[in-house]
Amino acid sequence: MNNVNLSNLSRRRFIATVGLGAATAVFAPRLLFTQDTGIVPTMINEAARAKIEVHPLRRNLSVLEGSGGNIAVLTGKGGKLLIDSGFTVSRARIAAALDSLSSYPVTQLINTHWHVDHTDGNAWVHAAGATITAHENTKKRLSTSTRVEGWSYTFPPAPAGAIPTTVFGDEHHVHHDDTRMALKYYGPAHTDSDISVLFEEADIVHVGDTWWNGFYPFIDYSTGGSIDGMIRATERNLTIVTDKTIIIPGHGPVGNKAGLTEYQDMLVATRNNVANLKKQGKSLSETIAAKPTAAYDTKWGQFLMTPAIFTGLVYSGV
Ligand SMILES: [Zn+2]
Repeated sequence: MNNVNLSNLSRRRFIATVGLGAATAVFAPRLLFTQDTGIVPTMINEAARAKIEVHPLRRNLSVLEGSGGNIAVLTGKGGKLLIDSGFTVSRARIAAALDSLSSYPVTQLINTHWHVDHTDGNAWVHAAGATITAHENTKKRLSTSTRVEGWSYTFPPAPAGAIPTTVFGDEHHVHHDDTRMALKYYGPAHTDSDISVLFEEADIVHVGDTWWNGFYPFIDYSTGGSIDGMIRATERNLTIVTDKTIIIPGHGPVGNKAGLTEYQDMLVATRNNVANLKKQGKSLSETIAAKPTAAYDTKWGQFLMTPAIFTGLVYSGV
């Protein structure tokens, strides 16, 4: 099996197991998974096995796929800047991928949001010399014990070196060599800590987990996420991109405006269908039985239980 197939397999398994975690919350309030066998250990095991793929994008920007969320890498004179840090178990392979781009150290790290599949590597990246920048709620969530019901998991506080030291509320600008970046808070969306990072000269934007390219997204209601927040974030994403913009999603392949527009249509239609059924007094199981996502399942919901799980996530927020 070649690298691409391995990666796709990992991604499919990852999505399937994320779905299973959410299903636990939606269908079975009692604890079905322990912390040792649930979604988070499964994601870490997947990352431990996955190859790290390097995809050059434009100018001096690349994306690394294979360890949790997509990692963007800006190579500069004298230092690299990363967007998100993946899982620590991938450290050796991420470091090798970074070395293949240039010999300079990582000097800056930006987190798109607080989730473990985007921040677990913070501590080693910081120890390697990077300062960490994020929204103030990423610092808040990483600093304390935080429960994600959809994953049936309570995260302990992150180690001191993993905590962002530069934080902002609404907007922040970063210069790295000759590259300008605009960091902007979405407001509550997938969590309450999501930001976009726009590379102005390259016309590339990392939109974090506001976009899962090709999959129904996970929405973390435990830390401020909601379907309406996801729709608002996607509306904003569509206003800041053109047909030429390269869009890095939190999960799935790098995409473009056409793909993002299709995702927005799916979010809005599903929200409306589920809201109408709920307004008619339908229970969650009746709403799932009515298949409100049917028109979209072939493209977005081809993994284990995912249409039902996504319907449950939307139902919670309408
Ligand atoms: Zn996330």
